[in-house]
Amino acid sequence: MLRVWYSEDFTLQLPEGHRFPMRKYRDLREALVNACIVNETELFESPEATRDELLLAHDAAYVDGILSGSLPERELKPIGFPWSPGLVRRSRRTVGGALAASRWALEHGIAGQLAGGTHHAHRNRGGGYCVFNDQACAALHLLRECADKVRRVLIVDLDVHQGDGTSSILRGHEQVYILSLHGERNYPFRKVASTVDRGLPDGLTDIDYMKVLDEELDRALGFRPDLILYQAGVDPLASDRLGKLSLTHEGLKQRDRRVIGFAHQLNIPISLAMGGGYAEPISDTVRAHVGTYEVVREFWPRIP
Ligand SMILES: [Zn+2]
Repeated sequence: MLRVWYSEDFTLQLPEGHRFPMRKYRDLREALVNACIVNETELFESPEATRDELLLAHDAAYVDGILSGSLPERELKPIGFPWSPGLVRRSRRTVGGALAASRWALEHGIAGQLAGGTHHAHRNRGGGYCVFNDQACAALHLLRECADKVRRVLIVDLDVHQGDGTSSILRGHEQVYILSLHGERNYPFRKVASTVDRGLPDGLTDIDYMKVLDEELDRALGFRPDLILYQAGVDPLASDRLGKLSLTHEGLKQRDRRVIGFAHQLNIPISLAMGGGYAEPISDTVRAHVGTYEVVREFWPRIP
């Protein structure tokens, strides 16, 4: 039974001319509801994570610096958003929603959040539009709080950018397996090793992408995960201005079908984070995220 977390706070007020496509969160929510893919009763407000929840994956000095607005400018700059109380709410809700979604997924098989996948956030610093790392917090939270059910977490990170923050926070953690497919020549230019990294060449198309994904999902099976956290970034789309890969909309749906179908077939709970998307026009990005939830519905049809 699907539940999806969302908050109006995801839409941050940005200075005039800022390049981040902030309207995509609201547009996605509206598109999913209008197309009857997700209905209002399946949408829940992402709660703000507590300080203790943030400390699962982050240093206290960094968390407190963000919460109080006292982080020095040189540490804020790599994040790419100016500090504001709204940024704090957005960042806390992104983690709180990921925790809620993954707990729900654990009991009911499937959940998602219309935000998150903030995989460039490290233990003591943010970067690349990421403040706190939602999936690292969620993995550590569930391994601790639901230790009887969750012994192994698989993070499938298919955003076109490598999840350096997630990999650095969870590095060496025996109960976490991180699979990343990403553009080898794309940001971040200093990558941090995941369990499996497949750096892809610029211009890669659907068929070659699926070959790599199939190989790696097969290999990840051997880890016998109890939970999958899926970073379903849609920036591998050909029209993405930051992506450099050449996947089609149908290709992204095939990708999602492989990951979500893998979870469904093996009866492994799966929780989805939105990840990146910077297509021109932005409606392409929204359409691609809608595609992910269309695929969810292929496996978990709506109960009328
Ligand atoms: Zn990305």
